[in-house]
Amino acid sequence: MRHFQYIIITVYLLISLFRCQPANSLTDKLRVTVSILPLTEFIREIGGEKVTVDVMIPPGAFPHSYEPKPAQLRQLKNTDVFVKVGTPVEFEVNWMDKLIQINPHMQIIDASPGIDLIGSEDHIDPHIWLSPKNAKIMVQSITRGLILADSVNSHFYQNNQENYLDKLDQLDNQISALFAHKTKSDFIVLHPSWSYFTRDYGLNQIGIEHEGKEPSARHLQLLIDEANQKEIAVVFIAPQDNPKNAFTLANEISANIQTIDPLDGNYIANLTHVAQLVSETLK
Ligand SMILES: [Zn+2]
Repeated sequence: MRHFQYIIITVYLLISLFRCQPANSLTDKLRVTVSILPLTEFIREIGGEKVTVDVMIPPGAFPHSYEPKPAQLRQLKNTDVFVKVGTPVEFEVNWMDKLIQINPHMQIIDASPGIDLIGSEDHIDPHIWLSPKNAKIMVQSITRGLILADSVNSHFYQNNQENYLDKLDQLDNQISALFAHKTKSDFIVLHPSWSYFTRDYGLNQIGIEHEGKEPSARHLQLLIDEANQKEIAVVFIAPQDNPKNAFTLANEISANIQTIDPLDGNYIANLTHVAQLVSETLK
């Protein structure tokens, strides 16, 4: 009987010991949470097998109004590091304070310092990640943050960073080459998220949405005239968009609809694909 009790107590102690450990010490990985999917590739490339990554805005969700699920908020309590874009992405504007309240101990990495922002003080374009040049700056901020959170693996993170920065350079060069012989520079897109991309490559996006709102009838008419005059044959939408206004415009100008995703989780593959599609329309 005594022996039995002893075993029970030992088992109980062992269980409570494990429970007291933060979850990550069992897996030995740094737990990283990011707000948007494109950041997941940055984390995977820099962090490799030393990290796990979760994303707040899942594939297909609308980033400008997404509300995290209760299970996500519970999971956030286990995260070591949170990486935010750091620009006025609506999700971060609406949720960052609440997320920090839920997990006051997580380290916050802001990916935006050092980036030349587009817009005015009261309206900054949040979509900084869509330029490979910006991505390089973001990756360096993230690497610094990961090293701060997990200095034991600093060489590992630094080496991975160098490799990934090389890949981003290659991406940038490839895209530059694609647009080097363009004869046109204007393309139409429903939600104008590509201004950092267009700045890098001498392009011009024409947004159907106007100042973040649905277009007025007058704005649509101006777009129809502009598109006809510039002989634009494609209207781009994103998978998250309500495409109604894009179809209306495409009908009026006899254009095709094509999809380009500003939030794909495979960053380099996606930007390669987007650049290819857009460059086809500018030949
Ligand atoms: Zn957007």
